[in-house]
Formats: sequence, structure tokens, C-alpha cells
Amino acid sequence: MKWERSWWWLVLAAGVAVIGGYFLLPGGGLAQAVTYNVVGFGCGALILVGVRLHRPARPAVWYCFAAGQLMSAAGDLIWDIYVYVLHQEPFPSIADVFYLGCYPLLAAGFLLMARELRDRDPRAVLDAAIVATGFSLVFWVFVLHPAAAAQADTTLERIINTAYPATDAMLLAILTGLFIAAGTRNASTRMLGVAALALLVADIGYSVLTDYLTYTEGNPLDAVWMLSYVLWACAALHPSMAKSGKATSRVHRTGLGGGRQVLLTASSLLAPAILFAPGVATRRGDWMVVAAGAVVLFLLVSYRMSGFVKQVQKQADRLADLSLRDELTGMGNRRQFQAALVPALADGRSCVALLDLTGFKKVNDQFGHHVGDQLLVEVAARLTAAAGATATVARLGGDEFAFLIPGGTPEVALGVAERVVQLLAQPIQVAGQDLVIGANIGLVDTERLTDPLEVLRRADVAMYAAKGLGEPHTWYLPELDRRAGEEARISADLRTALEAGQLHLVYQPIVELPTGRTVGVEALVRWRHPERGMVSPAEFIPVAESNGTIVEMGAWILREACHQTARWRAEHGAAAPQRVSVNVSARQLTRPGLVETVASALADSGLPASCLTVEVTETAVFESERALEMLHRLHEMGVRIALDDFGTGHSSLTLLQTVPAHALKVDKSFVDEVTSGGRRAVIAATLIQVAEALDMNAVAEGVETAEQAAELYRLGYRLAQGYHFGRPTEQPFALGQAQAAA
Ligand code: C2E
Ligand code: MG
Ligand code: MG
Repeated sequence: MKWERSWWWLVLAAGVAVIGGYFLLPGGGLAQAVTYNVVGFGCGALILVGVRLHRPARPAVWYCFAAGQLMSAAGDLIWDIYVYVLHQEPFPSIADVFYLGCYPLLAAGFLLMARELRDRDPRAVLDAAIVATGFSLVFWVFVLHPAAAAQADTTLERIINTAYPATDAMLLAILTGLFIAAGTRNASTRMLGVAALALLVADIGYSVLTDYLTYTEGNPLDAVWMLSYVLWACAALHPSMAKSGKATSRVHRTGLGGGRQVLLTASSLLAPAILFAPGVATRRGDWMVVAAGAVVLFLLVSYRMSGFVKQVQKQADRLADLSLRDELTGMGNRRQFQAALVPALADGRSCVALLDLTGFKKVNDQFGHHVGDQLLVEVAARLTAAAGATATVARLGGDEFAFLIPGGTPEVALGVAERVVQLLAQPIQVAGQDLVIGANIGLVDTERLTDPLEVLRRADVAMYAAKGLGEPHTWYLPELDRRAGEEARISADLRTALEAGQLHLVYQPIVELPTGRTVGVEALVRWRHPERGMVSPAEFIPVAESNGTIVEMGAWILREACHQTARWRAEHGAAAPQRVSVNVSARQLTRPGLVETVASALADSGLPASCLTVEVTETAVFESERALEMLHRLHEMGVRIALDDFGTGHSSLTLLQTVPAHALKVDKSFVDEVTSGGRRAVIAATLIQVAEALDMNAVAEGVETAEQAAELYRLGYRLAQGYHFGRPTEQPFALGQAQAAA
């Protein structure tokens, strides 16, 4: 603790000690009077020290306090001069001028302090008025009225008699307002409050004492006045004084806090309560004042309540608005969108477009949620621009947005969808990155639809269809529902297919050019469904991926393929295919355990790792960081890696840098055109050069004719696969004569 910070409590300790010592001095003696004056002037001066020490933003507040205190101390001194030097006790006297002059200065200090708070919390003024009115009534009945009615020789005496409690009442009102206001309390203002309260208590005590008893110097009330001086100085010396008058908490008290409510209720009940005090009801003057006070209180409270009701209404409106708004983008949310759909459907034909971003999850994973959020905000701005005046757009959640085109025809909706695609095609700059984000849009014509949920469901189905097809937008058609139903059935049946023994593997030869000798096989899974017959892997693999059965199925395929190949090698030696390729899908690559599955399949079957090739597609590799890590581990084990359907993705060449691949499987679409020329033929010709340059094998997939095989050979391909050489079968190679006979 810096020593100037501890000043205030040194002064407090010294003050308390002096006050204690004061009562050890002879009562009413000169020593007491001197001590009292030292405390008064000392504390006034210490306020100025506090200002120099802490340099508050509003020094005027403290100058007013210091002036007030010094004024009061001067009053004390003048009074003591009367008593000890001039030996008289005049009333009224010059001392009263100083005593009374101190109150406006203290009040000015508090008012300056309260100015800023009043702007922040205007209700505090009203609350202070309620409290002050209530207490003023008490003052009138018990202090002011008796004081005014007390024996006084002149009008001046009477005025001064009443002036003391009146100024106290004024100070009380200001103090209440200050302390009711929001977030005003810190150590310094608390001490000020106690100091001012001590002053009031002593003043009132003095009025009561002089009215009903006799007051002598050295009375315990002196201790209270002195304590007030000391606390005022401590408040100025406390470091928090630099901030007093500034609201310390940002929390805005909007309603009636518990304490405030009690205070207001108590204040407004004071008027009726006073009527029960003995004698009040019979004294006409008091009775009239109390009745008038009750009316004023009633008006103030009802005005305060009307403000309160308005405020509650405002808050309720704001809450309702918030509940319909998306916090991040400020657009409407799902609730708002559904609410807007109802009247649109009632009015007749509208269109709805549901949009889902592609690649958003990757951005979130790679760059963090902060960047993801910024991206969403920018996307939201572009979508709003695309919507223009024809549509409204809302964020349904995550990376899903929806457009409502009220009264719009399908052509208008298509126009919006195309504008969206156009606007999203420009890269988005976020956190120094140029991010490219795609979108799939599902479109619904709401004609004859009345249920908003059904509209959204159909939009969802269409959007997923667009995703599946890789199209930017697709319209909802009832057929999509049928397809979805089929998928659901396949999904259910798949769960039991493996256990029921409905799956088996077929093998397609991979041959050497130009001899056509089988050097390896690709294992391809088949599903013999009890009712549907053969189901194509193109149909059920995606379903197995999405329902998770691919993991178990993939493990089985790996084991089965390794065992079969090892058996063939053992039984047929050089006549058997030496290598086997197994397709591994995205979900398998991202699940932990793939490396262990491969290792145990190899160990159990006895197949050397170099005889196994794992085929992966580009999308599988790009799904996550984990996939790439998995491939590196497989590579370290000695397993070979082939990039399947090479050339069809949009970053095939990047793959070559990151994946430790041994082979490219050039996609059938390029092979199809090798004999007819065209761009794809050129790509096929280039890919073999790329493979050679990188010291990789290239396998031409889907070779169906001899001409294709010949052209591929001419281009430099030495490995091929396709119906021309052999369809996938359970027995993909020619057995030797002797073995065939056996
Ligand atoms: P893929 O790995 O590219 O397999 C090649 C596909 O092309 C196979 O279809 C194969 O029968 C077919 N094909 C081969 N030669 C020709 C040809 O000359 N002409 C034509 N038109 N097609 C040819 P399939 O067996 O229906 O497999 C389709 C896809 O399903 C595979 O494409 C692969 O991605 C996936 N798949 C197949 N089996 C498995 C598996 O065991 N596990 C995983 N994860 N995916 C598999
Ligand atoms: Mg394959
Ligand atoms: Mg392929």
C-alpha cells in the first residue's frame, strides 16, 4: 500500500482518538473549545489536501465541501470568541451567519456531484422528491413547527430557529437523491453519506435538546459533529474520491430495486402514519400540511409508477424484438421467418429458398469460431444484397439462411438464387484470408401449402438434394421425398446386412499394358439384398457413411480382401494377383482405429503391407486434418496409397503435394474421351506425364474398348482397369491349366 493511500485511515484513527480525548478534558472549558476548533479547521484544510493528492475530475465539488466546512469551523470559532473572550451568548449572532452559510455550500457540493448522475438516472430525482416530501412532513410536525412556535423574542430569532432544521431537510433530500441514483457508491461517497448523516443527526438532536431540554458544551452531540468533520476529511483523502460523482457501475438500474422500493413505500406511508401521532389530528395547522403532503406524495408516486409502466412496456417490446432477431447478423431468426411465412402462405403463392453454406465447418475448424463468425456476418450482408427488395432473408441457425419471396413466381425465386450464387462466388476477406465459400439452395413453390413447417421441410429436402447432386440450386419435387424414403429404408437394412451375410466382395483385375497380364485387383463390395436384389455400392456406400455402418463394414472389407489375396497368393503363386486395392471412405479415414484395423488385417492374413493399396478420394482427404495424418501413418507402415477418381475434384494437384501417394487412378471420364480427342483427352495425356515426373504409377480406370487401351498405351499408360479387361468378379484371374483341372 502506497503511504498516501493510507492517509485517510490515519486521519480517521487520529480523529477518533481526539474525540475520545475531548471528553477527558474539563467539560465546557477552553481546552475543549480549542480542541473542537482544531478539529473543525484541520478537517476543512485536509479536504484541500485530498484534492491536491488525488486530483479529482471535478475539484469544484470538493472546494464547495472545504468552503462549507471552513465556514462552519469559523462559526464555531466566532461562537467561542463570544463565550470565552466577550463572555456573552448572544442569539442570533454573527456565528449563526457562518453556521447557516455552511449548508448552501455543502448542498452545492452534493448537487454538483449529483448532476451527472441525474442525467443517467432521471428517476432518482423523482425518488428523492418522494423521500424528501415524506420526511419533510415528519420534520414539519416534530421539528420545524415546534421550532417556529418555540419562544422567540423577535421574528429574526424565529426565522433562524427554523432555518437550521429547514437547511437540514434540504441536505437530506439531496443526499437521498444522490444515494438512490445508480452505481454511485464507493468508499469515498459512503463516508460522505455517513458524515452528512452525522451532521443531520447532531443538528436535529440539538433542535430537540434546545426545545425540550438544555444544551451544555461538552455534550455527547459534540462528538457527533466532530465525527462528521473527521469523516468528511477522510472521504476527501480516500483514493476513490477521484471517481466520486461518476457512476461506477455500468449496470443501469431500470426498475425499482428492493431497497429503493422499501424506501419509497416507507416515505409515501409517512403521511398517513403521522396522522396517528398524538395530537396531530387535532392541530389544524399540522393536519392541513399533512393532507397537502399526502396529495403531493400521491401525485409523485403515481407519476413515478406511470414512468415505471412505460419502461416495462419498452423492455417487453425490446425483448420481443430480440427474440425474433439473430444476435450475430442482426437478421431475423427462424422464429421470425416462420412468423413471416404464415401471412405469406395465406396470401397465396410465394417462394422460399433455403441456403446452406458448404465448407463453413472447415473454416470454423481451421481458423476458429471468431473467423467463422466474421464470415457469417459478411455472408449475411451479401445475402441481404441479393434479396434486395423482392425478398426477405433470415438466418435459421448455424450456416443456414432462408429467403421468403412473397408473391414471387419461380422465375423470381430463381433470379434471387442466381444472384446469391453470383455474390458468393467472390472470395470473402476475413482476418487476412481470402475465403471461398459455396452454397446449396433448395427452392420451394408454396402454392397450395398452408403449413410453414412443411414448407421448410420441403426446402430442406431440396437443399440436401442440391448438395447430393453438387448443384447450386434444386427445386423441391415429390420424387425427392420418395428417394429420401428409400434412403431411410436402405439405412435401416444396412445395419443388419453385414451380420446377415448379405455382403460380399468382388474383384476387378488391374492389368499391365500392353500384355493385359493381371498384376493386381481392386476389391469392390456388393450387397445382395433379400428383396431388392443387387444394390450398387454407389447407392449404399454414401448411406453407410452417413449412418456410420461404414466403419464396421470397412473393417470387414479390409480383412476379407487381405485374407482372400493372401490365400490366392499361397494357392496360385505367381499366377495369382500380387496386390489388392481396397477403397476407404471419408468417414473411415477420420475415425481413429483405421491404422490398427489395417495392421491387424495384414498380420492375421500374412499379407505383406506392400501388397495392400488403400484407395482414397480427394473429398475424403480434404474432409479433415486427421485424414491426412492417417494416410501418413499408413504410408509409414508400408501400405501403398492410390488417389481414386483422380482429376474430378477441384484441387487434385494440391493432393499430390500433401498425400504420400504411390498411384493415381485417372478417372473414367478422361479415359472415355481418349480416342475422340477434346479437352479431357488432353488432360489424360498430361496426367500420365505428371505421374511419371513424380515417380508415381498411373492407372487408367474404366477402359471399355481395345482402341482406348491402345491409345492409352500410346500416351504412356502402363496400367489399366475396366470392363475391356475384366468385370469385377469373385474369381478375377485366369487359373493355370493344371490348377483349373484340379
Ligand atoms: P471406384 O473405386 O472408382 O470403383 C470403380 C467403379 O467403376 C466400380 O463400380 C467398378 O465396377 C466400375 N467400373 C470398372 N470398370 C468399368 C468400366 O469399364 N466401365 C464402367 N462403366 N464401370 C467400370 P462399383 O463397384 O459400382 O463401385 C462404385 C464405387 O463405390 C467405387 O468407385 C467406390 O468408390 C465405391 N466402393 C465400391 N466398393 C467399395 C468398398 O468396398 N468400400 C468403399 N469404401 N467404397 C467402395
Ligand atoms: Mg476405387
Ligand atoms: Mg475410381
